[in-house]
Amino acid sequence: MGLWNVYFVCKLMLHHAGAIVLQPWMNLCLALALLLPLRSPAWRYARQSVAIAAAAALLYHESFLPPWRSLFSEAGALSGFSLDYLAELFTRIVDARLALWLFALVAAYLVLRRWLRVSAFVLLALVIVPVLPSPRSGGAASAAGSPSLAGATPDTMINDGERLTAATSDAELNRAVERFFAEEARRTLLFPRVTRDIDLILIHVCSLAWDDLRAIGEEHHPLLGRFDILYTHFNSAASYSGPAAIRLLRGTCGQTPHDALYDAAAPDCRLMDQLQQAGFRPQLLMNHDGHYGHFREDLERRGGLEAAPQPTTGARIAMQGFDGAPIAEDYDVLQRWWQHHVAAKETRVALYYNTISLHDGNRLADAAGGWRRNYPRRAHKLLDDIDHFLSDLEASHARAVVVFIPEHGAAFHAGPGQIAGLRQVPGPNVTDVPVGVRLVGLQVTPAPRPLRVDTSISYLGLNQLLASVMAAAESGRGNIDLAQLVAHQHVTPFVAENDGLMVVRAGDGYYTRGPDGHWSR
Ligand SMILES: [Zn+2]
Repeated sequence: MGLWNVYFVCKLMLHHAGAIVLQPWMNLCLALALLLPLRSPAWRYARQSVAIAAAAALLYHESFLPPWRSLFSEAGALSGFSLDYLAELFTRIVDARLALWLFALVAAYLVLRRWLRVSAFVLLALVIVPVLPSPRSGGAASAAGSPSLAGATPDTMINDGERLTAATSDAELNRAVERFFAEEARRTLLFPRVTRDIDLILIHVCSLAWDDLRAIGEEHHPLLGRFDILYTHFNSAASYSGPAAIRLLRGTCGQTPHDALYDAAAPDCRLMDQLQQAGFRPQLLMNHDGHYGHFREDLERRGGLEAAPQPTTGARIAMQGFDGAPIAEDYDVLQRWWQHHVAAKETRVALYYNTISLHDGNRLADAAGGWRRNYPRRAHKLLDDIDHFLSDLEASHARAVVVFIPEHGAAFHAGPGQIAGLRQVPGPNVTDVPVGVRLVGLQVTPAPRPLRVDTSISYLGLNQLLASVMAAAESGRGNIDLAQLVAHQHVTPFVAENDGLMVVRAGDGYYTRGPDGHWSR
């Protein structure tokens, strides 16, 4: 098989390291096709060409890279990316250590082939290795690390309601997923009618998970301490912007499978419709144009947010997006909107604000007039901006419920099976996001601030809290007892999806289902 041996040995090693999931039968077929004796040089040449294409496709399939279809649909086509961002992504995928290993392998092969029938060993290994237990786990589970806050180990404090199932066989996990979606399909929530003056402000932040906050040392940023309620295990259930926004905007129903996000939603599941019926006026605000990945279309067609975007003209441009488009400064956009809101004497507005300031590949202007990618600096600025905006709200004596909720994490750190910044595996390192709720101008029963909720919560639980707060504010009877409200919040076990990949919390850890339908730890 010549140099093809190196291809197979590399893959066996990657499989062993948990970076890919080897498909033994497909590899054996490829190896046997290469071993078939062919006389004609033309045929041999044709076979090599086909084999190279097949080998590349097979390796891609075995990797944890996002399926092509999702790469194109989410990325709004790679052609939209600026050239230097593409170059940066390439250097993250092809890492230098891997290239060195490959070089060493080729050298070893050239030496050994004089004395050994390398092909025979490779064929034998292809049959044996996949049936041996993998010493390291692959995919999201190991990439995830500890999703808890410092000091808390999630799997010792886990209650049974937070785990999909205790068993971890393929069959049991599949049954548990089916049961989960069947139960979730029955859950709906109704918002109470509101007549008092109060606004609801949802701040949907692209690319910020607990894992990212810890990685950049911002897990104690003053903004987080300022919330009345802080969720330490909120599952965004999605790792890309479009599905995350649809999930949030359909969050008055139970969790739906990823594919169903693109079907029509039942009327009760559309958060903005419900808020409208409750007496609110839906509004949309973004610090970008919403073209990327058909985001605006997802909001409107799938999320049911039909309002035209609020103008952001005149807002300060803070950075250049990964696709070259301008991105406005969060504080400036929000405070301009607020000033307009106050001047227009609007009330009962349900604002959905979307910010992509933290998206991978965005660049800040540096002192020298150039552009620099700097996630920690951008994240710090975003947290400061929201903090500043909250201060303005509090000083204005307005009544508003403000929800800070990231879409998904940034995957700032790469892990096995994860490329930094690409978030293809929806593990807890990407979908466990810091969600904070601040009640501005409302009377709250004193409790330590922030009141930390460590149980597994998702959109339905959050909306349940918001509906309860609205009902309490409407009744106008005394203080709102937040501790009591969070004690009755709906707990959702961890199930997160991306196109073709699913991660669940089961047994004593996290399990990933690949596109081939198999689960791995
Ligand atoms: Zn996003």
